[in-house]
Amino acid sequence: MSLFHMFPGGIHPHEGINGKAVTCQLPIEELAQPSRVVIPLQQHMGAPCKSLVSKGDLVKTGMMIGEPVGFLSAAVHASVSGKVVGVQPCLLANGLQQPCVIIDNDFKDEWVALTPVTDPDKLDGKALADLARKAGLVGLGGATFPHAVKFSLPPDKPVDTLILNGAECEPYLSADHQLMLTYATQIIRGAKVIQKALKIEKIIVGIENNKIDAIRVMSDACAGDPSVSVEGLPVHYPQGGEKQLVYSLTGRVVKSGGLPLDSGVIVLNVGSAYALYRAVYEGRPIVDRVVTVSGCVKRPANYQVRIGTTVEWLLDTSGGLLPKAKVLLYGGPMMGLAISRLDIPVTKGCSGITALERASALEDESNCIRCGRCSEVCPMKLVPSTLDKLMRKSMFDEAEREGVMNCIECGACTWSCPAKRQLTQSCRTSKMVITQRHRAEAAKQKADAAKKAAQAAQKEEGK
Ligand code: SF4
Ligand code: SF4
Repeated sequence: MSLFHMFPGGIHPHEGINGKAVTCQLPIEELAQPSRVVIPLQQHMGAPCKSLVSKGDLVKTGMMIGEPVGFLSAAVHASVSGKVVGVQPCLLANGLQQPCVIIDNDFKDEWVALTPVTDPDKLDGKALADLARKAGLVGLGGATFPHAVKFSLPPDKPVDTLILNGAECEPYLSADHQLMLTYATQIIRGAKVIQKALKIEKIIVGIENNKIDAIRVMSDACAGDPSVSVEGLPVHYPQGGEKQLVYSLTGRVVKSGGLPLDSGVIVLNVGSAYALYRAVYEGRPIVDRVVTVSGCVKRPANYQVRIGTTVEWLLDTSGGLLPKAKVLLYGGPMMGLAISRLDIPVTKGCSGITALERASALEDESNCIRCGRCSEVCPMKLVPSTLDKLMRKSMFDEAEREGVMNCIECGACTWSCPAKRQLTQSCRTSKMVITQRHRAEAAKQKADAAKKAAQAAQKEEGK
């Protein structure tokens, strides 16, 4: 019996833009290591790590070079062995300069000793969270939410379902598809570790129906285990959005501003489950990931790539761009970020590099014709045309009231707009401004409270 519930909105990108056929049957290849890697100290949602190395230090592959700071953080590790030639700000795909460790590769690939967990069945929630933090485990589907936080369940929030996200609904990308075909058993074993440690009743693997072979292989990998099921899902973007997937597979609604946890669910990308398997059974932290290189490139592929490898190295290995390539995206065509430089490094959240002939970002916008299509397709029930207008007038408080912070940046509105309005970008900008304002406000409140406390102490002393 199908569990499926249809989430509101969404689109069905036709094969022309879906583009998965280009790479979905190409097995994962190990990409040659680059001579230099640039490893950001913040590859996760939350506080950046504190660098544990300085210029001139020698490092081995798998060595922790960034120590997690604060609750919402995850360690960062050297992805090659060699010499640290700099710890400095470098440009990332989001357009921001952020501190990075630059390592010149000695090509010896000497690893620090790896220590697998002796008895994975005995891991409890705390031990699992500690391991996730030390191994640098974060959501590899793009959100990069630290798993240590995901696995730290508050006692008042019982979880009965673990969803493995194998939807991979973003056009062109096939990294997760190939991971499922290649490492199905390991993915299920990784999920079983979580199930046992957190005492979760059932695991549901959600895979879009355009990956029939992955559905079969994953079903075989969990055959005979009544607590695990594999569900085929309609091909409907953004099926892989966390809230959409929870609704599709359980019928539960994750409220505005809430997390799947509030609905008794943990969602984990299949790549993340594989990374967890490696951390537990091999003692291996995240030093690499699978990245799809597709679109207008000479040799599309799914590569196992060391973290910190530049886009330039990836493209050169793929024979370079075709002359018709006009725009380069860090990610897929719906959620990817347009990049104009090639020295940007691959990070834990990068599942693809896509070169396109044209992109709506480059096309001229025209006036909104009030057709309402953007609202019809918005899976978060927002009114993107209004949010766009508010952003252009710098009316961020109003945009917040209209729910812009709930935007999951899926790109469905932009894709559907006949006037080519940059609706998703408007939402991104508003979210960034609002987040910065909230941070500034929190910092001000903290400073005011400290000032008041100091004044009170002085007054007390003066008595
Ligand atoms: S407003 Fe946000 S969530 Fe809604 S369709 Fe646009 S990008 Fe997606
Ligand atoms: S889809 Fe575009 S043209 Fe239509 S209402 Fe939305 S912003 Fe306006």
